[in-house]
Amino acid sequence: MTIGLIIGLILACFGAAALFIGFLCISRRKTESMNFGSLELTAFASAVWSLGFAVLFASTDTNVAYWGRAVGMVGTCTFLFFAHRTLLQVTRIPRWQKSISKVLAFFWIPVFFITTSPHAAVYTYTPEGMRYVFTPGISNTIYSVYCVIYGINVAVSVVLANKYADCRREKKTAVQFVVVLIVIFSGMVLDTIFPTMGLEAIPGSTLTQFAGLWVLYKAMWDKNKSEITLGNMTEYVYSVISEPLLVFNQDGGLVLFNRAAKEYFQKDRDKELSAEDRLQDMFDVPEDFFDYDGMYRAAECKTVTGKAFVSLDVSRIKDKFNDAIGFLVFVKDMTELNNAMESLRQAKAEADSANSAKSNFLANMSHEIRTPLNAILGFSELLLNEDSLGKNREEVEDIRDSSNTLLTIVNDILDISKIESGRMELVEEDVRFRDFFKNIGLMASLLAQKKGLSFGVDIDANIPSAVRADSSKLRGVFVNIINNSIKYTREGSVKFSAKLLNIENNVANLEFVVEDTGIGMKPEAMEKLFTPFYRMDTKRNSNIEGTGLGLSIVKGYVDLMKGTVDVESEYNKGSRFTIRIPFVIVNDEKLGIVDFKHKEETKEKSKTQVSLAGLKILAVDDNRVNLKVISKCLEKYKASLVLKESGAEALKACAAEQFDVVLMDQMMPEMDGVEAMKHIRSMNAFYEAGGRSRFVCLTANAISGAKEALLEEGFDAYVSKPINFSKLVGLLSEYLKAKGV
Ligand code: ADP
Repeated sequence: MTIGLIIGLILACFGAAALFIGFLCISRRKTESMNFGSLELTAFASAVWSLGFAVLFASTDTNVAYWGRAVGMVGTCTFLFFAHRTLLQVTRIPRWQKSISKVLAFFWIPVFFITTSPHAAVYTYTPEGMRYVFTPGISNTIYSVYCVIYGINVAVSVVLANKYADCRREKKTAVQFVVVLIVIFSGMVLDTIFPTMGLEAIPGSTLTQFAGLWVLYKAMWDKNKSEITLGNMTEYVYSVISEPLLVFNQDGGLVLFNRAAKEYFQKDRDKELSAEDRLQDMFDVPEDFFDYDGMYRAAECKTVTGKAFVSLDVSRIKDKFNDAIGFLVFVKDMTELNNAMESLRQAKAEADSANSAKSNFLANMSHEIRTPLNAILGFSELLLNEDSLGKNREEVEDIRDSSNTLLTIVNDILDISKIESGRMELVEEDVRFRDFFKNIGLMASLLAQKKGLSFGVDIDANIPSAVRADSSKLRGVFVNIINNSIKYTREGSVKFSAKLLNIENNVANLEFVVEDTGIGMKPEAMEKLFTPFYRMDTKRNSNIEGTGLGLSIVKGYVDLMKGTVDVESEYNKGSRFTIRIPFVIVNDEKLGIVDFKHKEETKEKSKTQVSLAGLKILAVDDNRVNLKVISKCLEKYKASLVLKESGAEALKACAAEQFDVVLMDQMMPEMDGVEAMKHIRSMNAFYEAGGRSRFVCLTANAISGAKEALLEEGFDAYVSKPINFSKLVGLLSEYLKAKGV
């Protein structure tokens, strides 16, 4: 093998390597969207350069050698042109230098033709292989001078690249180029300068140019890696993301994890993550955790140590053929949030129990207050019925009125606490509007009359005659608002009106308006109108009794009824409250004209005529004073009344005798009213449910739903304490009528 052939083979290898770099750039450009500028062309030029000269040195024919060099020189010229261009692309060389480089580059074309002319070199085949020398003369001198000038220009470019480099990457590229330039130019001495001096050409630069190509490739690679692209950022985001990120294969084995995951599990398990770990070694999840449909799933679980609570966001990873290849799991630590939720839950449970303790306390207190109030009110009513009262009548009336006020306050406080705790419920029944409006109208006109105000009522005759409603709460709404209007009006009038707005699907939308010519309210104060215990203008209203609870209760009630309350008011002129409530119609017959006088007369008449003679009543209460009040009140109605102070005594009495009505106190020591009633009911057919005897519960329990619960337990009726005796007498006379006496 000749030396020429060996050189030819080496050059062919470099040519093949250059071709490989060229195709590598093309494929990276496509698959990774990398930008290599003019590097591919530089690489192909390098390949042509190496392969052309490989042919020259490996050939045995001088003619082939000539063409080999000619082709190789095409590569040389284009390589120098594109390599310089690539250098300009990866560095910050100033514009003027770029312009000089462009002009110089064009001279490669004439230089090429000069240096490849047939007489420019002489080729000789020797036993060591093909050799060639330049023919001395102008053409080769031009070539050599041009190469030196071009080399100097490239050297200047490199120096400038170094000078203007503004990051470490560019500086590194520039330094590498300095080294490469020295290597390439040393090579050029052998194949460009020596031959002009009549010496044999050795392909130095042809070999060293590959180093230049490699440095350019590295520089372009670094440049691409420094660019913000999706490919680069994916890797970056993966490493810097502060939440643990895990990648599992299809079998649940851990494949990749980021730094955050490493630190997280080091802390949680005291053991580093490794490729042997499986999903179940980290989290308390079932074996089939990854068996799910679709791309994503989310789950909350504990880590395997039970120390942390995490939420997992799992995504299925698919390859470009759409085959599932693994799972990406984002881990979010929820321990703190979970602990906070737990303490919130605890705090809520504590608050709930405190609230129910408060409600129980209020229920008990109201019971305790109502029991003595029952006696005070009962006895004051009794005294007021005595003609002999004389000059003390006024004081007794004050006692009765103050007791009534106290009763209202107790009721209001209880109501507002129920509304605030969301435990207030509607107890709906069929309400006949005729009686309902009459009742309100009479109450209001009496109050207004007392204060010297005129009271007007205007009820739309088209309103349906009966609807479903909680009559006591509905009454509460109007009584509160009308009372306020009368309270806060010194002179003038108060007016109550009711109007049918429309009927839709058996629901009647009604509008009620209460208007007064009273003291009015300032707009800024009205914002807090429905806040419990808020009383506006306290200086001006100091002589008007009130707790600031009335309108809050009204709002609570109306909200429950799915209605609205609107207020318009003008300071010192008057106020107007508009309430709109939807009602389910029970009887769509029109209400017609309501006569407000009629009921008062019948009431007066009934009061004087009632007699309960023939009715056998048993009254049971552990409080002797209460029994005394009952007996005193019922005495004049001529009923036969037996009094007992405990459930046990009541049982004995009922076993011995048959009572038409049993008035039973609810709360009694040892055996309470419900238990006693149940025992008596079970005695015989006379007392059993649906039998002839009636059980009326006397209750001071005003908690919502308590009264309804008593009826469910088996009572026929209940009467609230303090006892409204006219109501009780009305009820008893109905029982008497039913008995047919
Ligand atoms: P109060 O027991 O003080 O009457 P309310 O909740 O019923 O409590 O009313 C709250 C405040 O709204 C009252 O203190 C009063 O200042 C004002 N207010 C309510 N109704 C009227 C009205 N018709 N005219 C003027 N002011 C009113």
